[in-house]
Amino acid sequence: MIIKSMKTMEIDKGVFFVMGKQRGKFPFSNSIIIKHKVMLDLGCGIEIVKDLADKVEFAALTHTHPDHCSGAWVFNFKNKMVLSPQGYKTELESLANRFVNDNLKERWKNFVTKIGIRDFNAEYYSSGDIILKEPEIVAMHTPGHTADMHVFYMDGRIIFGSDIDLTAFGPWYGHKESSIKEFVKSIEKVMELDASIFVSGHENPVFGRENVRRRLQMYLDVFERRNEILIKLLDKPRSLNELVELSPFYMKKPYERELLDYWERQMIEKHLKLLIEKGQVVKVDGEYVSL
Ligand SMILES: [Zn+2]
Repeated sequence: MIIKSMKTMEIDKGVFFVMGKQRGKFPFSNSIIIKHKVMLDLGCGIEIVKDLADKVEFAALTHTHPDHCSGAWVFNFKNKMVLSPQGYKTELESLANRFVNDNLKERWKNFVTKIGIRDFNAEYYSSGDIILKEPEIVAMHTPGHTADMHVFYMDGRIIFGSDIDLTAFGPWYGHKESSIKEFVKSIEKVMELDASIFVSGHENPVFGRENVRRRLQMYLDVFERRNEILIKLLDKPRSLNELVELSPFYMKKPYERELLDYWERQMIEKHLKLLIEKGQVVKVDGEYVSL
């Protein structure tokens, strides 16, 4: 029995949606528990992970972002296995090297330590691996958001989409390793799966095949909307710094301004690169302008 006070919902027989702290909004995220066997993602808040770790056999992470793996060390303490994507280290130092530049490393570590993350040990899975046999859960590599991002596909019915998160904000790709092209391909790949329940890392679950498809399409459309926003802003020449200052995607940065600026800069740069490739924007004397 899942703890009653916790915000959980049985979304399918024996499958429990666990709403993360702060309604699963960043820097926390939602989890699910399947048949008291596995817990998917561990960023719902340390206290919640501590309570639930005793109720499952092991955990699996969709990717190594702190808002999805902050509670993984709790499973280490309880001698329960944590499965994490193959090829990516799980100590804070390695994560800092991937997710921010040298100047921001200490600030980033400070920020994520506040949500309770610690170094953790993991065993690894690869794309296509069956992480649970009954019901069958398959890991599917869906890079773009991060290089190690995976979704978990369950018995042809449920997708644990994690940071293909269907938020109104839209897709997030603020790291060096993030890629718009990969992200688009990944969303399209997920759209081909036949699932009647989609569980987002940061939103309420979506029910019904048509709703799932529609929400994924809306999410996908955000890439193009962001292109259009940039093209409009670049009706006069602007520097990258100016664009970051204008904050066309985040629009407001209520906390950790330096980190959010850094990530938004990466996202803007990725769009500019694509728009230059498509011949819609040019770079002249260090400034960008649309054609
Ligand atoms: Zn993430």
